[in-house]
Amino acid sequence: MTHVAVVGAGIVGVTTAYSLLRSGYAVTLVDPEEPGSARAASFGNGGWLSPSLVIPSAMPGLWKMIPGMLLDPRGPLTVDIRRLPRLMPWLTRFIWNGATEERVRPTSRALSRLVGSCPDRHRQIASEIGASHLIEPSGLLFLYRSRQAYAREALPWALRRELGARWIELDEGPLREVEPGTPDIYGFGALVEGGHCVDPGKFVAALGRFLVANGVVHRRGRALGFSFDGDRLTGIETEGGNIACDKAVVSAGAWSGTLAAALGDRVPLEAERGHHIVIPGPAPALRNRLLLTDRKITVRRVGDATKITGQVDFSGLEKPANPLRFQVLRDLAADAFPILGSAGSREMATWMGRRPSLPDGLPVIGRSTRSPDVVHAFGHGHVGFASAPETARLVTGIITGTARESDIAAYSPRRFR
Ligand SMILES: Cc1cc2nc3c(=O)[nH]c(=O)nc-3n(C[C@H](O)[C@H](O)[C@H](O)COP(=O)(O)OP(=O)(O)OC[C@H]3O[C@@H](n4cnc5c(N)ncnc54)[C@H](O)[C@@H]3O)c2cc1C
Repeated sequence: MTHVAVVGAGIVGVTTAYSLLRSGYAVTLVDPEEPGSARAASFGNGGWLSPSLVIPSAMPGLWKMIPGMLLDPRGPLTVDIRRLPRLMPWLTRFIWNGATEERVRPTSRALSRLVGSCPDRHRQIASEIGASHLIEPSGLLFLYRSRQAYAREALPWALRRELGARWIELDEGPLREVEPGTPDIYGFGALVEGGHCVDPGKFVAALGRFLVANGVVHRRGRALGFSFDGDRLTGIETEGGNIACDKAVVSAGAWSGTLAAALGDRVPLEAERGHHIVIPGPAPALRNRLLLTDRKITVRRVGDATKITGQVDFSGLEKPANPLRFQVLRDLAADAFPILGSAGSREMATWMGRRPSLPDGLPVIGRSTRSPDVVHAFGHGHVGFASAPETARLVTGIITGTARESDIAAYSPRRFR
């Protein structure tokens, strides 16, 4: 039986292991952490699953907003100034890729291929692993100050429509019927169809347990490199020794860059750090999950508490979380929901995760340059949770030799040369 080692047990690694297992491969997962660990971006993300996730972060006009965002201490974007010289080429490429509609449109199409059927795919996996309670059909309510503010985002909404996303537009009255908890400052809403994973970390952990119960081996330890006989892969070198295998998948999220470089693929992978806080105690009465478009944060009830997600911080892969980012999230949410402002002395849970991000907004999925036996599957940025099952299907197709080049060309590891 062909033995595949999957490096990294975040959502991309575990869904890939699941897909390979179902296709008859012997699979070993390699990760120093348990699946579902808080170190992975897959632990604390927003869990939003929707065909609407087709808009890259860089869009036309963004360059004009970046200086203001950087100067605003409560803005959605932070850069560690000492890293700026290293980061400039990445940021330049990022802005360039989103500078025109002609550049954005193919990116959105390539994202749509990955997320188009995500709510169903997650539901199907959840049902098979006994975790259906973790996936719920719920929309995301985008809140705008006014219909005019919504209309100013004509291109993203047009792309979403073209690519199969559905939503209902809500003027003042209907908005307050759908969401009585809407703060007064918002006068327009778009309730977008989709689903949510209520606890992404628990979903990954449940899938990890299912895999191990069905014969997948979890080897704890960091992958350090690869061994070859000519072009043929013979094993993975790890902290705990060599693991003999016939094929391997690099799905170590934001940590994949060094492994890819060792395979001849230098890709500009950055850790785009994001955050969440959970504020216990008195919470706004919300029926829906909200995206406050002016603050770029999501807000939702979790039991008796409120969970707030957001912020992009380019401070590097290994630097610890900056407590200021959590404070900013809290202040932004408290401005909209004063009830959260009284949480000053309350204990809030905090988390920082690293989105594995490439400057063109697409992941890397494809055979490595060093050997066709090693396949890359990383760099999913803001949409990795939603796009993991389709990524897993593509990776399995590459390994079995059934993937069509036209289906994977957009994600080539060699597109940055
Ligand atoms: C605040 C925030 C909100 C988000 N919201 C959403 C959302 O609503 N919807 C959505 O689709 N996406 C969302 N995302 C993005 C999503 O979380 C990521 O794209 C996705 O989790 C990436 O998964 P991954 O498996 O590639 O990486 P990770 O989940 O980071 O997993 C990588 C794994 O590799 C392991 N590893 C690292 N180095 C090695 C090594 N050398 N050897 C072996 N193992 C190694 C790590 O321990 C880790 O377990 C959000 C992200 C953040 C931060």
